[in-house]
Amino acid sequence: MLWIVHTTGRCNLRCKYCGGSFPERLVPYKEKYNVERLARLISKDPDPTVIFYGGEPLLNARFIMEVMDSIKAHYGIQTNGTLPHLLPKNYWERMETVLISVDGVEWLTDKYRGKGIYKRAINTARWLAGFCNCRRIARMTVTKDTCIYRDVTHLLDLGVFTHVHWQLDVVWDEPWPFLEWAKNRYLPGIRRLVMYMGEKLAQGEIPGIVPFLGVLTADKKGGWHGVPCGAGRDSVSVSTDGRLLACPIAVGEKWAEVGSVDEGVKRWIDVRREFPDCASCPYFKWCGGRCLYALYERHWGEEGHRAVCWVTQRTIDHILKLREIVEKLVEMGVISWDDVLYDPLRDSTEVIP
Ligand code: SF4
Ligand code: SF4
Repeated sequence: MLWIVHTTGRCNLRCKYCGGSFPERLVPYKEKYNVERLARLISKDPDPTVIFYGGEPLLNARFIMEVMDSIKAHYGIQTNGTLPHLLPKNYWERMETVLISVDGVEWLTDKYRGKGIYKRAINTARWLAGFCNCRRIARMTVTKDTCIYRDVTHLLDLGVFTHVHWQLDVVWDEPWPFLEWAKNRYLPGIRRLVMYMGEKLAQGEIPGIVPFLGVLTADKKGGWHGVPCGAGRDSVSVSTDGRLLACPIAVGEKWAEVGSVDEGVKRWIDVRREFPDCASCPYFKWCGGRCLYALYERHWGEEGHRAVCWVTQRTIDHILKLREIVEKLVEMGVISWDDVLYDPLRDSTEVIP
């Protein structure tokens, strides 16, 4: 199971789409429970993955070390990559996954995250590549300024990331002409990226493009049972105040409160039961409902929700064009399914952008 552990609600940046720190009353800036309580809870899980989350999790590095000293688990962290020096190297060496926020080319990243942030994030990824055998995942937020083909291939070509993942800047932000942008820019870029992936696969290379690997995995294994990030079913977030949440960003939403560090998980959320439109959707197998937070909150209303679904479905259509290519190359012995199959619960990725 995936445990997303908030170490603090505080962040040292104020990125445009997110706005920086959580309010301290919702996610205190230091943990309010004892690490032994967390250890007791997680020790019941036979195969736990713990991903540190914030705010910027490195702002409470002392707690990261305490957790890693007390609990046996697969470890990872979602960081903005600007403060790697706050955690000693021997703890970095134990990380299996490091997700670093970066949006693509330098001007784009700096426009949304702040001047000089691109260089600091890339330097951290490069530094880790020198000694850490972890999956290093570039975690992009995709906005109207993103050129998905340019930005994904740019990050892969740097040679410091093993994977690239992205999330669309939809629902969290104010509505913007998303559908028009998706039709004119994003989906043609996805089509080009699928062709790029096909060419690489034919050469025996497997680019770590997380949404593509995730959808191919769902297709091969019979589909997701709920949202691919695991929220409500296979993943629990632990807020610094000791509440257990279905989703790490739903820090103030009652539907997301599923238990506490003391009591454990009291309630699971079944996406198909809660959302009949997903249960009857022909794309559920690959989409899984996409994002539990978005399903509950629908900040862009029904029309906005349908627009995001439409783009998700067209994205899946493009990705599934790789299905036959992969099957054929596996048959020919050029690649193996073992290298294609991807488990989002190890990395805390959402799969569906
Ligand atoms: S495309 Fe929309 S309706 Fe269909 S499964 Fe995904 S979120 Fe649900
Ligand atoms: S995809 Fe949605 S439900 Fe899942 S972790 Fe992200 S915000 Fe939460």
